[in-house]
Amino acid sequence: MNAPSPVTAHPESHDEVESLCAVLHRFGARLSPRTIDTDGRIPPPVLDELKGMGLLGLTIPEAYGGAGLGLQAACRVAATLARYDRSVATTAGLHMGLGTRGLVAYGSGALKERVLPRLATGTLGAFAATESNAGSDLTAVATKAMLDQDRLLVDGAKIYVTNGGLAGVFTLLVSTPWATGGRRAQSLLLLERTDHGLEVGAEEKKLGLRGSSTTSLFATGVEVSPDRIIGEPGTGARQASHVLSWGRTVMASGCLGSAGAALDAALRHVTTRKQFGRTLAQLDVVREQVADMAATHFAMEALIQDTAASVTDEELLARSLGAKVVCSEGGWQIGDTALQLHGGSGFIEDTGLALVLRDLRITRIFEGANDVLLVHAGTLAVTTGMPVTDPALDGLPEDLRAHHQTLRQRFSTHLAEVKLRHGVRLLGDQRRLHRIGRLATLRASCDAAVRRAASEGTSLALAHAAHWLQLSAQQQARWLDEPAPKDTVSAIAEAHYGRVTP
Ligand SMILES: Cc1cc2nc3c(=O)[nH]c(=O)nc-3n(C[C@H](O)[C@H](O)[C@H](O)COP(=O)(O)OP(=O)(O)OC[C@H]3O[C@@H](n4cnc5c(N)ncnc54)[C@H](O)[C@@H]3O)c2cc1C
Repeated sequence: MNAPSPVTAHPESHDEVESLCAVLHRFGARLSPRTIDTDGRIPPPVLDELKGMGLLGLTIPEAYGGAGLGLQAACRVAATLARYDRSVATTAGLHMGLGTRGLVAYGSGALKERVLPRLATGTLGAFAATESNAGSDLTAVATKAMLDQDRLLVDGAKIYVTNGGLAGVFTLLVSTPWATGGRRAQSLLLLERTDHGLEVGAEEKKLGLRGSSTTSLFATGVEVSPDRIIGEPGTGARQASHVLSWGRTVMASGCLGSAGAALDAALRHVTTRKQFGRTLAQLDVVREQVADMAATHFAMEALIQDTAASVTDEELLARSLGAKVVCSEGGWQIGDTALQLHGGSGFIEDTGLALVLRDLRITRIFEGANDVLLVHAGTLAVTTGMPVTDPALDGLPEDLRAHHQTLRQRFSTHLAEVKLRHGVRLLGDQRRLHRIGRLATLRASCDAAVRRAASEGTSLALAHAAHWLQLSAQQQARWLDEPAPKDTVSAIAEAHYGRVTP
């Protein structure tokens, strides 16, 4: 059996990543996001250039032709690319995340030897878990890989496969009821585009990310050798959890990049646009919105840094839930505020913000719908307390430290009270778990923001962290409040459900 790989391949080479990002900034500045959006595809020479830069091999071990870097590097790259074009960032990010992580972390030496050198140099990877009846609930996956003597027979249909139209290698989550774990056992399986019986569907038409390929994938009597199973048969659910934690962290970094671009666009606009005889930037309400955007961006970046530095799988899972929710929602808020500050021009495609928002919208849904992740985060907080480390706060001003402690204390007290009051029933109370998930992700973002401020030590970093705590306190008050009475909520919902005939 393969031991799970450590979360990070080896300590990141800061210089190596920074010089790559400098190249990517020049590359990104030459992209035409509007053309990519309108054409619904990334021009092949752009993909070739990415491959030529060695980007596909960034997170693939050196032994297989890659650069052997880890999650921190993948996050920096995804954030950098997303500043310029989210479809390009998604195509590359998916490859570095979901598309290759399963094989890198769990594949046998022989399988890696056979496939990773190609994935490191020119072949794109994709990850196919979702099916028409298995979305948020991946335990319902119906695609089966059945053992037939010395062959595996694969049948089923996957939907919404990012990179589907471009990839040469697919990691599938499949049902393997013959494996350890029995009827519900799942495994990760590697299929190649050239496998007989594997077909890629047509490109989906989407609200955003139009340059990124999204297709179905059909396996009809695909016959492959059992050594295509990644790692131990029957351990697919656990492996998928790791792969998704990794992938959603890379995706959350893309939100950071999009948000950074939107913030910069807003800054350029408000400092030049004049109304009422002065620039918008001089208006107090605008200043506050800019401060909100900047503090949110600061906290998003801090949370990504914390998540990408996770040491254990448990840490990565717990932190990635918060990073994904905070960054997808923060990205959306920053994009939305940037558009609002542009006034009518923000609504016009040429400004570019409409595209940023359209591209951002899916990030609250894919790689785990946010509400599902929040319930998960709430469950973790109730059952394990989530792996929380106290941030080192040396050098922080007393008021910032005290505010941070107050927010943490309020959450701990609330969690203890709710657990005492509801006991084991809490684990069946989805709405309370969802609220606890909200509170837990807020706490993680506050911890990350103060940790970052303490380490940077500048007055601007301290101001960002203080402002984020202020915004978080408002949010926290909302989620500490009792939920609306269940009877009322159910009565309203049921009445409306009754108005529609399925
Ligand atoms: C552009 C795009 C790219 C994608 N790329 C990939 C990919 O590469 N690989 C892949 O495997 N999948 C991919 N997906 C699929 C994506 O991950 C799923 O769409 C997502 O996980 C949600 O599943 P679903 O669409 O079936 O929604 P459902 O599971 O039907 O959920 C719909 C909504 O119901 C609510 N909900 C559901 N369950 C709960 C719950 N337990 N608690 C609270 N609320 C709940 C949420 O609001 C949720 O958004 C992609 C999707 C899109 C649109």
